[in-house]
Amino acid sequence: MDDEHDLNFFKRLYDLRQKLEKEWSDKDNKDKTTLLDVFYELMSILDNFDFDDFDDGNKEKLLNVSILSNTIYKFEDVVSRHDLKRLFWFFYHNLGKQSSSQINNRNEVQIMTIHKSKGLEFPVVFIAGLKEKSFPRDFKDEEFELYGLYKTPNFPIPYKYLGYKDVLTLEEKEEQHYYEERRVLYVGLTRAKDVLILSTYENKDGRLPEIDGIDFNQIKRIEDDYSIIPPIQIDKIPDEEAETPVLSYTSIRDYEKCPFRYYIVHQLSYKESDTFKIKKGNISHKILDKIHINSIDNLTDETLTDETIHEVIDDIIPENDKELYQNEIKNIKKYLDTFYREVEVVKSEFPFTIKKDNYIINGQIDLIYRRNGVLGILDFKNKYAVNEEEIKNQLYTYLLALKLNPEFYNENVKELAVYLLKAPEDGKLLIFDIDEEYLNNFQNKIVNVAQNINNNVYPKKKSNDCDNCSFSFICK
Ligand code: SF4
Repeated sequence: MDDEHDLNFFKRLYDLRQKLEKEWSDKDNKDKTTLLDVFYELMSILDNFDFDDFDDGNKEKLLNVSILSNTIYKFEDVVSRHDLKRLFWFFYHNLGKQSSSQINNRNEVQIMTIHKSKGLEFPVVFIAGLKEKSFPRDFKDEEFELYGLYKTPNFPIPYKYLGYKDVLTLEEKEEQHYYEERRVLYVGLTRAKDVLILSTYENKDGRLPEIDGIDFNQIKRIEDDYSIIPPIQIDKIPDEEAETPVLSYTSIRDYEKCPFRYYIVHQLSYKESDTFKIKKGNISHKILDKIHINSIDNLTDETLTDETIHEVIDDIIPENDKELYQNEIKNIKKYLDTFYREVEVVKSEFPFTIKKDNYIINGQIDLIYRRNGVLGILDFKNKYAVNEEEIKNQLYTYLLALKLNPEFYNENVKELAVYLLKAPEDGKLLIFDIDEEYLNNFQNKIVNVAQNINNNVYPKKKSNDCDNCSFSFICK
């Protein structure tokens, strides 16, 4: 130990250890510090990110830490949120299996899949391994593979029972497969600006294959004579075409709060632990979704008895966790006895995509309902109260989505509502009138955010949120 800095380092480590020992031994504390929280705290104590310049070297450093954060996040999800010893064992056994991040220098030869090359162009492109039946792949019926010859032991669900998968005939599946393979090959072939070099090998009869209309026997062979490749001058590799940012209501909100934090979470994919509150909220959403779907499927109010509700709940909440959820269940029942009785459920957990020239927004609407002939959008919150501007922005995002959705072109949404499951009875339902001016301003705000993201504008925005921000170790 040399100076105050070292002393401070050990003091912080010691304090962290004391805190964890106390918290983690408290069985009743449901929102204890998680492994990811510890990870970020350690990053802050280590004080290793002393840079303002986000050049490729620093970005790579940050991306590698992001990979670690994702590994811990998965460990929390599957194993434990508080078992540090097991996490160390996990790292010990898996170290080296994780791939480190890679930042491509665009002036180097780049090796990538065709999928990754979409939208890019290069002076010279090599496509390797073109061989009949292997690339493009030959058609195989996946279902046959799963249930026929190569039966898997874990009994996957046949596609026909998965509502979201279209049931196709064998011919349709085959046609779709070859269409997709042709499309991928076309993307690969069209990445080359000046020279395209294809590699394949001869069949047993000494002939080169014909793949998707490309007869290799008609194409000049390089063999050992490389002089047939025309000389080309490569001055500068053109800049990568900016990808259209894919946003969500949450990412727009995050950008507005702090663009730099948005960059860390949404561009570098850093993870934070799901809090116990979020987990409980997700379960409430699942229960409500199941009830709403039952309602759409004509499980009418007459049959929606306490018993039915319990069946739905029992299906979702594990036996040993029931006690924890007693309050949530009470809140859900209250909803079923009040607002739910007044509405006709039109859609539950309705997914949407808003596609514009310079941004895409994806999301899911908790509930679309009809009440007294009026169409409304509702969001559930497992909370006592909400920030009015935030919830309005969320609901206006949904409103925009419905205005652009052909299924709702002829409908006029008149109500935007939020239902607060935990609020006292008279404050559970908040309804907002639709204000066209607010909608226009909000749209402009989205365009602005998308433009900034397209231009890589991510300033740090210091605020009170910094005190609780996991990424303060990068900002300082
Ligand atoms: S510490 Fe503050 S400025 Fe830095 S990312 Fe977090 S919220 Fe943004």
